[in-house]
Amino acid sequence: MGKFETKKTELLRKGDLEKTKFLENIEKLILPSQVKKIQQNDKTVLKELVLPAWVDWGLLYDWASTKKIGSGKTCILCNLDAENGVFLLEKYICESCFLKIKNI
Ligand SMILES: [Zn+2]
Repeated sequence: MGKFETKKTELLRKGDLEKTKFLENIEKLILPSQVKKIQQNDKTVLKELVLPAWVDWGLLYDWASTKKIGSGKTCILCNLDAENGVFLLEKYICESCFLKIKNI
């Protein structure tokens, strides 16, 4: 089990539902291009993200490393080829569509 899953399990055991929920929804807070930066260990991305202090880099990095980031695939929503996108439920969604749906 990775650091991210371990932390989630630990928080759940402590009954800290607020933090557990945050980790479950972290996907909606971080853009595909930002996930890519985290995967590349590029800490400048931290300036763009608004994360609580208890979320450390190791946790973020472990989470990002489990994410599949597409490159130049076709978005299922707008049919455009997009370099930055993310797989949601096995479907490829580009960053701009991702931004739209995350605001719903
Ligand atoms: Zn799209």
